Amino acid sequence: MFDLLKNKLSAFVAGVTKKAPEEKKEEIPDKRDFTPELKAITKVRALFEKEVRLREADLRESLCELELALLEADVHEDTAKKFCEEIKHRLLSKSVPKKSVDSFVKETIRHTLKELMYVDQIDIIEKAKSSQKPFKILFLGPNGAGKTTTMAKLSKLFSENGLTTIFAAADTFRAASIEQLEEHAKKLGVPLIKHKYGADPAAVAFDAINSAKAKSIDIVMIDTAGRQETNMNLIQELKKITRVTEPNIKIFVGEAFAGKTLIEQAKSFDNAIGIDAFIMTKVDADPKGGTMLSILHELKKPIIFIGTGQSYDALKRFDPEEIIERII
Ligand code: GDP
Repeated sequence: MFDLLKNKLSAFVAGVTKKAPEEKKEEIPDKRDFTPELKAITKVRALFEKEVRLREADLRESLCELELALLEADVHEDTAKKFCEEIKHRLLSKSVPKKSVDSFVKETIRHTLKELMYVDQIDIIEKAKSSQKPFKILFLGPNGAGKTTTMAKLSKLFSENGLTTIFAAADTFRAASIEQLEEHAKKLGVPLIKHKYGADPAAVAFDAINSAKAKSIDIVMIDTAGRQETNMNLIQELKKITRVTEPNIKIFVGEAFAGKTLIEQAKSFDNAIGIDAFIMTKVDADPKGGTMLSILHELKKPIIFIGTGQSYDALKRFDPEEIIERII
């Protein structure tokens, strides 16, 4: 009898202490809780009413959480503050049915973020189709951000939409940049115009445009040199290429997780040369996406595509809803 009890007891202890097999979870960013904590005075005031009027004190913690979520997602400090101020203003300006305070707060956050991120989108395929030929695209941005890979991805997309392309290897500064673009050109069967390293990039682009005219090629895609930091020589060089080629669109290619540095660089490029659109790369390596939110809000230029991997098909149209979903 005693042994039976002892066995049962040890089986029970073993069961309790045995660890459950570890569940393999996909890594998703932590979601924060923005539910406001209504203070006593708000609750008393709403006691005999159907609606609640939120007060600043009720929202303090939720807004703090929201600001933290934005900062953690790499949203620029000033942008995060501005967002929270605007959201606070909207939350305080209305009476809300008692039962739907939570959903009112969440929806207000979602709507405000969407509005503050809004910019007119560009359909580059339609634009290229309806423009006079050749359509000229100038690619700008720091080295290593994925400029040449993105050119290759876009060229494939154009081809799938019945448009032909030619590459201009106008980064004559960085070692191996011409060979790198040539490799993509070979894989895709796209013609490429190149000169020697150190040659005038504007001349390379000019030759590519003439070649496109001669061969009735629809689109000229011009690669340019990038530096990690903004440099006056580079800006002068880019200004010259822009003057000579008169591009239909200037696209800045940057890493989605590059944060503040990228925003500052994009701003100085925009002031000097003018950026029309962004393509953000390596979104597959950035679980949050706050840099994209800051770009839209601060530069007011559309993000036309995002890079989601190294393969030529890893290019997706940008959807602001996805960013909001990642952040909140
Ligand atoms: P460039 O110097 O700006 O022309 O950069 P590259 O096009 O050579 O890209 C640098 C590296 O980033 C290469 O290894 C690319 O395969 C990689 N890359 C480019 N775009 C993406 C992307 O969207 N996701 C990931 N994971 N890697 C990318």
